[in-house]
Amino acid sequence: AVDVPLTGRTRVLTVSNQKGGVGKTTTAVNIAAALVSVGARVLVIDLDPQGNASTALGVPHTADIPSIYDVLIDEFPLADIVQTSPESPDLLCAPSTIHLAGAEIELVTQVAREYRLRTALDDYLDGLEDRLDFVLIDCPPSLGLLTINAFAAAQELLIPIQCEYYALEGLSQLLGTVRMIQKHLNPKLRLSTILLTMYDGRTRLAQQVAEEVRGHFPQEVLTTVIPRSVRVSEAPSFGQTVIAYDGQSAGAVAYREAAVEIIRRDNTGTGSTSPVPDSA
Ligand code: ADP
Ligand code: MG
Repeated sequence: AVDVPLTGRTRVLTVSNQKGGVGKTTTAVNIAAALVSVGARVLVIDLDPQGNASTALGVPHTADIPSIYDVLIDEFPLADIVQTSPESPDLLCAPSTIHLAGAEIELVTQVAREYRLRTALDDYLDGLEDRLDFVLIDCPPSLGLLTINAFAAAQELLIPIQCEYYALEGLSQLLGTVRMIQKHLNPKLRLSTILLTMYDGRTRLAQQVAEEVRGHFPQEVLTTVIPRSVRVSEAPSFGQTVIAYDGQSAGAVAYREAAVEIIRRDNTGTGSTSPVPDSA
């Protein structure tokens, strides 16, 4: 374990990017497992009907299993659906099932539809005996009501950016939504962290993308980049994070370094508190 002091409060990060396949789920589960490996207690909330985060954490999420759907739509307590990952007693998961696919529509007519997750999470955190250090919310690839629930429940936004073509495309739309959330629903939300993923240092393109993103967001981009690695992409098919699947692999090492940076940046106060910039 790395000697990194934890703050004593629960940091809630939402892992969002309305583009699919950029590494949201991979980042959510591996950062979570990496945080646990350095002594943190972490809950992952799977907010994607695909349920990929639940799968990667080895947590059952067939249609008959109580899930985040029941929390959002039928006001089940979060405590009733949270499961422990076989990887660690300190790694928890609120699973998603296929039912969540309908929630985007069903939420529209619900009371306080943007705050369903926040209310459930607040109640859960209040009732816990063993405090959590982090909650990571894995978002679906859209800016609909599920993602808005995540934005309303979180203090921090973590954006994974794939070091490939069109990396910045769509980012201004995402940041525009975040500004709207800050103004109307959750003034505490801030873009705290950008993580460059699927980095292939051999290509000029990856280097250019990384440079461009760092130019736009000098405070937010982590020093650590996640390399493109077969071990990272294989791990979920074994129901594992890469931390458990191959802890010595380059991907696991990078995710641990990124996790330590996330902890440190908060502790030292060097993390950005700036509002989301206007242009990106
Ligand atoms: P999202 O949740 O944004 O849709 P995923 O995390 O599911 O994206 O990642 C998309 C695909 O890329 C998955 O097949 C995943 O295994 C793969 N992938 C993610 N990160 C890496 C990486 N660092 N190296 C190799 N493959 C990766
Ligand atoms: Mg995903």
